[in-house]
Parts: sequence; structure tokens; C-alpha cells
Amino acid sequence: RAKHVGRNTYQFYSAEMNAEAHRALTLEHDLRQALDRGELKLVYQPQIDLKSGALVGIEALLRWNHPQEGPISPAEFIPMAEETGLIVSIGRWVLLQACRHAAKLRQHLDAPFRVAVNLSARQFDDLGLAATVKSVLEETELPASFLELEITEGLMIDNYSNSLMLLHKLRDLGITLAIDDFGTGYSSLSYLKKMPVQVLKIDRSFVQDLPDDRDDLAITSTIILMARQLGLQVLAEGIETSEQHQFLLNSGCPVGQGFLFDRPLPLEEIIQRYSQETLTAPQL
Ligand code: C2E
Ligand code: MG
Ligand code: MG
Ligand code: MG
Repeated sequence: RAKHVGRNTYQFYSAEMNAEAHRALTLEHDLRQALDRGELKLVYQPQIDLKSGALVGIEALLRWNHPQEGPISPAEFIPMAEETGLIVSIGRWVLLQACRHAAKLRQHLDAPFRVAVNLSARQFDDLGLAATVKSVLEETELPASFLELEITEGLMIDNYSNSLMLLHKLRDLGITLAIDDFGTGYSSLSYLKKMPVQVLKIDRSFVQDLPDDRDDLAITSTIILMARQLGLQVLAEGIETSEQHQFLLNSGCPVGQGFLFDRPLPLEEIIQRYSQETLTAPQL
């Protein structure tokens, strides 16, 4: 009897796994063509001055609208793009597109802002990355001060000396470097000291239970204080409630992003919401 159950269980799992593996293979195959078929697009989440509500930046976030499956989460297809190496060509497209869009947005805004682009560790295997970034800035005529690149702590562990060299090259171009999901990696503070970064992005997982969770309260205020004392800028991710907003503001965090302010939006909607024309138009 036990054997019987065991065999059924096995068949059940294997059928399920086959379906999962099949989906993964299909998606991986389709992802190779997604770029050429125009199925990828960027949306932008505003980064807000927590005191004034002014727009200080936008983060470019990739979306894949699969012709049969519909929208696929980046949490699913980015790892796939990383494993297959497709992230290198996709990442180059993201960079170009984000800089083009930022140049366009710039025509509608008076104040300077930054466009933040997520980079995968895999893109750091390419020693030509700095040259790519430079040529994209030239082609799009976007000043380097308008571009921010987001990296994760893990980058330094994977390929320390190459990564450090590349980060310095990128810095020399005049762009800003940010550490994304700060606090979730297993890197040490000694990496932070050596990396030529200017911005720490506090991970959403520390923000989500503010201000009730005492540990998160301690962690976020400590990161904010540490950033300030290291001369780094700090931003909180995933702000969803006005209590979180208030707590972060009181703790000295100047900038944040999250659903409380905006979901990631197509460029046209960013322009509509934040353009000088909209902000100065008489309220009817
Ligand atoms: P991330 O870089 O940490 O981006 C922030 C994620 O949090 C985004 O998810 C955003 O939609 C979500 N988010 C923002 N505010 C809130 C909030 O208030 N509440 C909640 N629950 N979520 C919020 P998304 O767009 O699904 O992207 C997931 C991850 O995929 C990103 O995390 C990033 O690591 C990766 N990713 C997205 N686009 C790209 C890309 O162009 N290149 C690379 N290499 N990775 C990307
Ligand atoms: Mg990010
Ligand atoms: Mg990221
Ligand atoms: Mg993040």
C-alpha cells in the first residue's frame, strides 16, 4: 500500500514538475524573441522628496507582455534572462530606452532629476559596460548627472576586483551609483566602504512593517543615520502608508518611492502628472 501511495505521489509531482519545467523552457525560448517583437517595455516609478512631494527621480522597471501568457513578472523573467545571458542585450536596450525617455521628460520639467536603471551582476562581466554607458549618454544627449545605476550588494562578492574597477569607471563618467535592496545582501560594511557609491536604497522588507515592528524601526533609523554619517544619500523603497512616510521623514530620510505616491507608470503618464505645464496650470 505504501508503495502504491508513493508511486502516485511520484507521478503527481513529476507531472507538476514537467508542467513547470515546460513553462520555463517555453518562456525562455520566447524571451529570446521578446525584444525584437516589441513585447518589452519600461514603466517608471517616481522617487519623491518626502518633505515637499517634489519629483526627484524615476526608477525604470521592465515589463514583459507575453502574447499568450499576458504580463510576466520581472521576478520571474529577469532571473531567466540572467541565466541565459540574455540580460546583456536586454540590459543594453533598457539603458538606451531609459535614457531616451529621460531626455524626453527633461523637456517637460524645470528641475533636474535622475533616471535610475537596475543593473544585473551579469552585466558586470562585460568590461565594455562603461563604454556602452558612455555611448548611450552621447547618443541620447542625456547629461551623466541625470543617470543613476542601481546595483546590488551581491555584485561585489561575485567578482570583486572587476566590479570595483568598473564601478570606478562608471563613477568617472559622472553618473550616480546606488545600492538597491540595501540590507538584504550578505555583504559586509567593508564592501560598502570600498564601493564608490552615493546612494543607499533601503529595502522594502524593512519599510513594510514600520512603524510597529521595533526591529525594523531600529534597522531603518540606523541605516539612515549611517548613510548620513558616511556622506551618502538615502532613499526608502516600498512606502505604502502615510504612517511609514511620516516615520521615515521624522527619522531624517529625505527621499522615498512606493505605492503611496505612485505605482510604476508609462512615461506619458509621468509627463502628464509631473510636467511643469500640469503643475502650473490653473486648477479649474
Ligand atoms: P527593485 O529594483 O527593488 O524594484 C522595486 C520593486 O518594488 C518593483 O517591482 C516595484 O514595482 C515594487 N514596488 C515599488 N513600490 C512598491 C510598494 O509600495 N509596495 C510593493 N509591494 N512593491 C513596490 P517590479 O517592477 O516587479 O520589479 C522587481 C524586480 O525586478 C526589481 O526590484 C529589480 O530587481 C528587477 N528588475 C526590474 N526591471 C529590471 C531591469 O530593467 N533590469 C534588471 N536587471 N532588473 C530589473
Ligand atoms: Mg531597483
Ligand atoms: Mg534591483
Ligand atoms: Mg529594490
